[in-house]
Amino acid sequence: MDIVLLGPPGVGKGTQAERLEKLLKVPHIATGDIFRRLSNEDSALAGEVRTFMERGEYVPDDLTIKVFCAEFGRPEVRDGFVLDGFPRTTRQATVLDEALAAQGRKVDRALYITAPAAVLAARISGRIQCPECSAVYNTVTNPPRLSMVCDECGHALIRRADEEPDVVRARIDTYIRETEPVIAFYREAGILSEVDGSLPISEVEGKIDTALGSQSTPARNRNA
Ligand code: AMP
Repeated sequence: MDIVLLGPPGVGKGTQAERLEKLLKVPHIATGDIFRRLSNEDSALAGEVRTFMERGEYVPDDLTIKVFCAEFGRPEVRDGFVLDGFPRTTRQATVLDEALAAQGRKVDRALYITAPAAVLAARISGRIQCPECSAVYNTVTNPPRLSMVCDECGHALIRRADEEPDVVRARIDTYIRETEPVIAFYREAGILSEVDGSLPISEVEGKIDTALGSQSTPARNRNA
């Protein structure tokens, strides 16, 4: 099953991607996590990626598509995946369709998680992340068991550099300009499900599971 998660920064795509990975037993791919790891390296490319991210801009399509294609080539994603943060432009959406079609696959469902701007701002101000395994928490709505320590791997949690208010505003502008057309693309294709991300997390999960419906049988059990 191939699922795309769409929505503005701070809406909770990362949390849902991690949950769906476990539920559906298919890997999740988060291009933002890949770019964060890349930006920490000591190279000219890392510096370039860092500059885009620090400005709240998207990394250019050519590089993003290259990164995606490398992930898409991994044998682990042959039975499906949950995409968090890709595609974010119409060109990326076209490349994804072509890559899937070449394997007789298609995007099964695009989940568009929405929330009002005030909810997004509150979520982002409480958001903390594990730099080691990329698990996402929120100090208010989804705190780790031990303060500032990752439940999954025990690493110290951090606040993301691109979550300062000015950068968040720029990220939202970029999202509206570049990614809203992608939402229209999936809506026209008839595979978009809209989910209210401002609801309590258990209700968001319920709505997502309903949207996935019978498609949400874990890959491992599908032929059982
Ligand atoms: P995220 O963690 O998904 O919010 O992504 C963090 C940052 O990584 C974004 O603000 C972009 O600079 C970059 N990025 C992640 N995914 C993409 C993408 N599909 N296209 C372009 N830039 C991306």
